Amino acid sequence: MFGKTFQRRYALTEQGVRNVKKGALWTVVTNLVVMGGTGILYLLMTRFMTTLTDGAALPNAWAVMGMTLAFLLLSFLTHLEQYRATYGLVYGEVKATRLGLAERLRKLPLGYFGRRDLADLTETIMGDVNRMEHVWSHCLGYLYGAYVSTAIIAVMLLVYDWRLAIATLWGVPAAFALLFGSRRVARRNSEALKASAVTVSDGIQEALENIREIRATNQEARYLDGLNAKIDAHERVNIHGELVTGLFVNGASVIMRLGVATTILAGAQSILSGRIGFMLLFMFLLIITRIYAPFDQSLALIAEMFMSQVSAGRIMEIEDTPAATGSEDFRPAGHDIVFKNVGFAYDNEQVLKGVSFTAREGEVTALVGPSGSGKSTCARLAARLWDASEGSIEVGGVDISTVEPEALLTDYAMVFQDVMLFDDTVMENIRLGRRGATDDEVLEAARAANCDEFVSRLPQGYATAIGENGVKLSGGERQRISIARALLKDAPIVLLDEATASLDVESETKVQGALSRLLRGKTVLVIAHRMRTVQAADRIVVLKDGRVAEEGSPKELMAKPDGIFRHMAELQGASANWSL
Ligand code: ADP
Repeated sequence: MFGKTFQRRYALTEQGVRNVKKGALWTVVTNLVVMGGTGILYLLMTRFMTTLTDGAALPNAWAVMGMTLAFLLLSFLTHLEQYRATYGLVYGEVKATRLGLAERLRKLPLGYFGRRDLADLTETIMGDVNRMEHVWSHCLGYLYGAYVSTAIIAVMLLVYDWRLAIATLWGVPAAFALLFGSRRVARRNSEALKASAVTVSDGIQEALENIREIRATNQEARYLDGLNAKIDAHERVNIHGELVTGLFVNGASVIMRLGVATTILAGAQSILSGRIGFMLLFMFLLIITRIYAPFDQSLALIAEMFMSQVSAGRIMEIEDTPAATGSEDFRPAGHDIVFKNVGFAYDNEQVLKGVSFTAREGEVTALVGPSGSGKSTCARLAARLWDASEGSIEVGGVDISTVEPEALLTDYAMVFQDVMLFDDTVMENIRLGRRGATDDEVLEAARAANCDEFVSRLPQGYATAIGENGVKLSGGERQRISIARALLKDAPIVLLDEATASLDVESETKVQGALSRLLRGKTVLVIAHRMRTVQAADRIVVLKDGRVAEEGSPKELMAKPDGIFRHMAELQGASANWSL
């Protein structure tokens, strides 16, 4: 019952499973003790009845009181233990799960974070774990304990009087059958709810992103109407979901209670036919109220348990993603990057197929090709942001999939389009390139990357806060910060993504000097968009549909009469920006 499937379905840690078992055990004990109380009541009633009918002496009042007190004490203690075992232990579980997730995230391939947005990850660590917490504390122990205690009591009743027992118990499996039947409906609702929530947030995001155009074209009313309709639809799905869940849960509760009616009917018939005495029916009626109680508590939560599967799935998705691990000792012989028959797929579609090429130390290797041909993917793989699924990538003869990403990246400087800026000053944002660099070193790198020009316009110069809460920088300015970082880091391998739009001609010329200094003597892999870069490269790798279509020096490739590169170069014209 509490195996691996159970652990995965509810995203529990091993300790969590042990806790649930303990909670279930104490629930069984508590339920049986309460049932024992019903037994005492039954015994007392029988004594009173015999007093009434046969004039026997009443039981000793002290004995009755003593028994009642002893029962209350026992009941209190078992309830306390049950509470401790179910609620108390869950807090440890929540903490362990969150820490476990955070630790896992730390070890995941960096590329994973490009695929799942951060809001989504935060939602899993906080929201999903919260939802699971409720299930762990309120549902699992109670429900599984109730299964066991009900089974024990059911066997006892069946042995005592099977006919009456069936009349009493049939409602329990019937109610559960209805609930489990509704499981698919619950899942569909929860998916529909998620979809409509995404539609709403997409709508809001779209409106915010396009607010200027919307204002400029006087379309505010139309946009708001559209958004309103989406929110209304979301609300409708939500209400519908709650209604259907409520119907099923209450339906199940009603079915279970129909057991009272059938017990009375069957009991009355048995009394009339002289098969049983009135007291037996009385006992069954006492028990019936107790048998349903634990389920009543869980019924309301069972829908939540079904819905929680989505949260558990999201938690398990993180737990199941393979971590990027490896040796912390990275000692390559030189810094040639060698792709050997590399294949890669983000999801199912193969993005790179049998890619082989070498980017030599001291040379600039340009990756060119149409958009979507796999250039960025090659650059990401070269830095082990993802692991290749086939073939291998070596740096200085070392297979990078055997090197811890953090150790590997000390030898890399990256200038990519999507520069990450932190909520800190310009100075600190550049210092990220090399922690421990002095202010003078930072300023020198910044000057070389031509940051001075725009930083001098900021209110507090290099001490101005940028990023989330500070001033916003343009694409070109961000890229210059990124170049300054790379200059500061001075790593032997440079990965460079030339953004077509980021730099205007003037600042490009200014940055070019810094760039060429940055690149001198390094292994440079550049995702090229400009003809100038391409023609200055030592080596060109033309990618097409995830394969290497052509490779060679610019001269060699231009010499091929019907080569792709030559064709593209002629088409674009040597002076134009080269994007396809
Ligand atoms: P390029 O840089 O040449 O434009 P990319 O390497 O970015 O090409 O993309 C190659 C293919 O991989 C494209 O079909 C793209 O849609 C897909 N792709 C790129 N990044 C991701 C990602 N993070 N998840 C899934 N697919 C991706």
